[in-house]
Amino acid sequence: MITRDALIWLSRKEGLKDFATRIGYFKRLTTRFVAGDNIDETISYIRQINAENCTASFDHLNEAVGSAGEAEQEVAEYLNILAKIDEQRVHSNVSIKLTQFGLGLDPELAYQNARRVVAEAHRRGNFVRVDMEDSAVTQVTIDIFKRLRSEFDLNTVGIVLQSYLYRTYEDAQELLKLPARIRICKGAYNEPPEVAFPAKKDVDANYVKIMQLLLASGIYHGIATHDPKMVDATISFASREGIGKEKFEFQMLYGIRRDLQRQLARDGFNVRIYVPYGKHWYPYFMRRLAERPANIWFVLKNLARG
Ligand SMILES: Cc1cc2nc3c(=O)[nH]c(=O)nc-3n(C[C@H](O)[C@H](O)[C@H](O)COP(=O)(O)OP(=O)(O)OC[C@H]3O[C@@H](n4cnc5c(N)ncnc54)[C@H](O)[C@@H]3O)c2cc1C
Repeated sequence: MITRDALIWLSRKEGLKDFATRIGYFKRLTTRFVAGDNIDETISYIRQINAENCTASFDHLNEAVGSAGEAEQEVAEYLNILAKIDEQRVHSNVSIKLTQFGLGLDPELAYQNARRVVAEAHRRGNFVRVDMEDSAVTQVTIDIFKRLRSEFDLNTVGIVLQSYLYRTYEDAQELLKLPARIRICKGAYNEPPEVAFPAKKDVDANYVKIMQLLLASGIYHGIATHDPKMVDATISFASREGIGKEKFEFQMLYGIRRDLQRQLARDGFNVRIYVPYGKHWYPYFMRRLAERPANIWFVLKNLARG
């Protein structure tokens, strides 16, 4: 039986990433988790979910870029997305990864690149969410976010925190002082027990603690999960504390628990769908398999169908 750790390990194999990207045959396996190849295909999906009262966040798939030139292309893609959102009048913001903008090459480059996208979002009245990657870059991601936040307002740039890290409750307390808009999620990478809770029950308990801290802050945050227990805990806490549905949003990934996404939107909650697209799907796709190794059966079934 292939494990979560093995799938995450595979997600980091550059050779496999290049292979998977080049061989078109594999691409059709990704359709459950990846909305399209290009921005136009993705916009038409976003229009559909907007019609179901859900908003979106565009994610152009790419991470750990290998050159400043590649990072530059990512900036251009995001400037284009922000323009398309306005032109096409879809309800969406954008999510970025700092390694996509060159963090692994030079943190200053990543900051400068992210700043260009955030400045454009600000000019257009839109919002940029800085995704959180593995624990090797947690601190530098927070540092760059704080620099951005010191230059742009609360409603222009936000960050993500992961409940599997021991440090996160304190990070959330610190970031709330700025203040900051936070997306809380459980965390999708392989982390050692020195930095992260090994047991799911502790990750979940920390998630609930942080969700409560965020909701009580009065700032508009994103509660990102497909876990009905986390969703129920959020709804109960909000109703107990008299926190209105308009004060926060649930966030879920494209292709996962669409039933729950629709139900929450029908029940009047704000729901945002994270919509990834593009040809560099491999690491993202592997992390989705790792979250639920049973997904491998779905992939194998599609492969067998030829
Ligand atoms: C909007 C959004 C943004 C995110 N951004 C980040 C980020 O910036 N950094 C980061 O590290 N992680 C990010 N994640 C991923 C997150 O950390 C988790 O890995 C992921 O959401 C699974 O956790 P869960 O809360 O859904 O709970 P889990 O306990 O993992 O899952 C609960 C239930 O949800 C369903 N489910 C969950 N995942 C899958 C899947 N892949 N396929 C099918 N069903 C599934 C299953 O029914 C499962 O029983 C994001 C998640 C969301 C929803």
